[in-house]
Amino acid sequence: MSDCIFCKIIKGEIPSTKIYEDDEFFAFKDLNPQAPIHTLVVPKKHITSLMDMEEADAPLMGRLLYRAQEIAKLQGLGEGGARFVFNCKGDAGQTVWHIHCHILGGKRLDDGFG
Ligand code: 5GP
Ligand code: ZN
Repeated sequence: MSDCIFCKIIKGEIPSTKIYEDDEFFAFKDLNPQAPIHTLVVPKKHITSLMDMEEADAPLMGRLLYRAQEIAKLQGLGEGGARFVFNCKGDAGQTVWHIHCHILGGKRLDDGFG
């Protein structure tokens, strides 16, 4: 998608602080971190939101979860733990329409589900 900011980040057209990259996934620091560690993991394939994925995307999204927990451990969160979040559509506050998994950690997240 030519006007998607995360597609542009993946292609290097918008700068980001890269944490991890492979053939299928890209991970980078969130611009507006909500925790000491706040990383976004995206598939290179443009999918609009978790609730727009097709069944054919299920293996890709399974691998995304596996990578996300690996990336969390790479960032030192293996012992303390982390929160993995997908905001889907308007009521959940999704603002970027390219599916992404937030990894939040590095402190005790005592704020319920927020
Ligand atoms: P959402 O609310 O859609 O689940 O989360 C989108 C996230 O993307 C937000 O946490 C926001 O700070 C982050 N974000 C938006 N634009 C950019 C950007 O250009 N660069 C980076 N690194 N993060 C961004
Ligand atoms: Zn995109």
